[in-house]
Amino acid sequence: MGNLTGRTALVTGASRGMGRATAERLARDGALVAVHYGTNEAAAGEVVAGIEKDGGRAFAVKAELGTPGDVHELFLALEEGLKERTGSTELNILVNNAGVMGGVKPEDTTPDMFDRIFAVNAKAPFFIIQRALANMPDGGRIVNISSGLTRFANPDEIAYAMSKGAIEQLALHYAKALGPRGITVNSVAPGITRNGNPLFDIPEAVEAMAALSTFNRVGEPQDVADVVAFLVSDDARWVSGSFVDASGGTLLG
Ligand code: NDP
Repeated sequence: MGNLTGRTALVTGASRGMGRATAERLARDGALVAVHYGTNEAAAGEVVAGIEKDGGRAFAVKAELGTPGDVHELFLALEEGLKERTGSTELNILVNNAGVMGGVKPEDTTPDMFDRIFAVNAKAPFFIIQRALANMPDGGRIVNISSGLTRFANPDEIAYAMSKGAIEQLALHYAKALGPRGITVNSVAPGITRNGNPLFDIPEAVEAMAALSTFNRVGEPQDVADVVAFLVSDDARWVSGSFVDASGGTLLG
């Protein structure tokens, strides 16, 4: 029996990357996991099938964040899935992981691009937390995935880094507000972490990215998922409002 047996979790952006690894890890720890995705139903289905094959419990929920009605759509599907499987709509763990990179130089960033980055990376997590609190019993856990770029300069990603700076504020202020309910809220900041980006297929690029970490390798999605798993466990009951550096030492300079 895992340490999250009897708990329910929502991981946004769990169809691939760190979200996927987090969903898989929390399911291995015993949680019933809602695998959220935006567009890639097949990928989310694969994650659910893999979790079930390993004896875990999961279901997929779709909602394109950053579009009108996104949070409503997300919670309709989430509550339906939870009710069907547990008889209740209680949500113990929320991981706000879904995010979009900028990838555009500041001088080429249009107001629409900027709005989209903020809508997905900062506004959606705020309203997801606001809505989730109606379902979250005392002792719940909230983790927001930020980025090492709030502490490590990259002039090509200013708008993105700004959006991650915004999401970090959620931990500070919500941690204070929710402490009396035993709910913890923390930020996890990954460094460069392998995902489906074709850059990770170019050995020279991977070597250059690896050099940023004190461990001389790029992060794997599981490196970050394991940190999240700690923060949502009972063992992390005394940790709230924190910024957790999960950058493989990149921020050491
Ligand atoms: P990926 O790019 O591999 O996957 C992104 C996930 O988010 C997918 O499941 C995708 O779903 C979902 N998603 C993206 N946009 C939306 C949207 N508008 N609505 C709903 N779902 C959406 O993610 P990573 O593992 O690379 O990154 C995860 C988090 O970590 C992000 O917040 C990212 O900013 C942050 N981060 C990543 C770093 C890295 O080097 N990879 C470094 C530092 C932070 P679908 O495909 O189904 O639409």
